Amino acid sequence: MIGIEMIIPFIRIIVTNLSGTLLKNIILSDIEIVPKSFIQQFIKTLTTLKAQYKSYKLGIIGIGFAFPNYNHKTGIIENIPNMQKWNQFPILQELEKCKLDIPFFIQSTVQAATMGKIHFGKANPFEQLVYISGTWGISASMYSNGNLISGQHGFAGRIGHSIIDVNGRQCICGNKGCLEEYASIRALFKKLYPGQSQQHKYIEEILKRVKK
Ligand SMILES: [Zn+2]
Repeated sequence: MIGIEMIIPFIRIIVTNLSGTLLKNIILSDIEIVPKSFIQQFIKTLTTLKAQYKSYKLGIIGIGFAFPNYNHKTGIIENIPNMQKWNQFPILQELEKCKLDIPFFIQSTVQAATMGKIHFGKANPFEQLVYISGTWGISASMYSNGNLISGQHGFAGRIGHSIIDVNGRQCICGNKGCLEEYASIRALFKKLYPGQSQQHKYIEEILKRVKK
């Protein structure tokens, strides 16, 4: 199985077996992450992986995509302030056009992480769960009675641009004092590397420092 996660400013592609054991971990960090080049790069990588795992009995049986702010009710990536070129991009429709011949599934990054905790982590599938993801941005996901709660329009849990200080720091969304400006990896990045452009090496460095 292949899992693809878009975490600005890079893309992670993993291959696992059916038990969830990691077989391969690829980081694409030197590409411009815009929809057209992402799809081209993904098709190229998929072709390579299909050849590599051809000798496995079942080959590659499924693909899971995780995109920030993916709305499963519309199939569209919506309102990502630091990814303007992705706003309103109909990713489901565009991937369907690629005729991948392997079943695929798309979920928002935070909902995919929540289901990961249910299936592979310590979360109890029969209880309620609120999962808060703090990476480049901040988002939350709610799980109750065996279901993810997305709200009527698919926006539930998008807490990153909640204003916590009306006269606070300028946010990329245009407002001031958003939660993400204080508590995300982006906020740490801006403090640690002022003036630098987003690059994977800086994120790795921040994660290393957090682990220490
Ligand atoms: Zn904001």
